[in-house]
Amino acid sequence: MSDTNPDCIFCRIANHEVPAEVVYEDDLVVGFKDAHPVAPIHVLIVPRKHIPTLNDVYADDNIVSHMAFAARKIAEDLGVADTGYRFSMNVNRGGGQIVFHLHAHLMAGKNLVTLVIRLAVITSIMWGKLVKLLRKK
Ligand code: 5GP
Ligand code: ZN
Repeated sequence: MSDTNPDCIFCRIANHEVPAEVVYEDDLVVGFKDAHPVAPIHVLIVPRKHIPTLNDVYADDNIVSHMAFAARKIAEDLGVADTGYRFSMNVNRGGGQIVFHLHAHLMAGKNLVTLVIRLAVITSIMWGKLVKLLRKK
């Protein structure tokens, strides 16, 4: 079996046949910005080799640990290694996987929707406390 799949978008990005904002590259993996970011920092880390899902990784293959290593390097470069980031994988349709080439999401920073929801929750808690306080008086 060939290591790359000509019909796979992430193989084509890894081979520089399709443009992407590449932020990291080594012999085994490529990191590039997600086309539809859900966080201020949203990078995808993919193996150069075409592996459809996490279920297709063999026990003696170190690719996933190498992806985690790359994520840490990218997080350091982007200045979020210490403040923190998420490193996650969706597996198969039920796990939310849309692109069937193994990839990890590296996400950091708060998006506006999360901030607005948090602000709304805090405001409603404070409002509830204020109302209680006023009723006591
Ligand atoms: P999944 O749901 O499979 O874990 O995530 C696939 C991710 O790939 C999505 O976040 C989607 O925005 C991203 N994506 C899909 N096609 C492209 C593409 O052509 N270029 C880039 N940079 N990201 C893509
Ligand atoms: Zn592929």
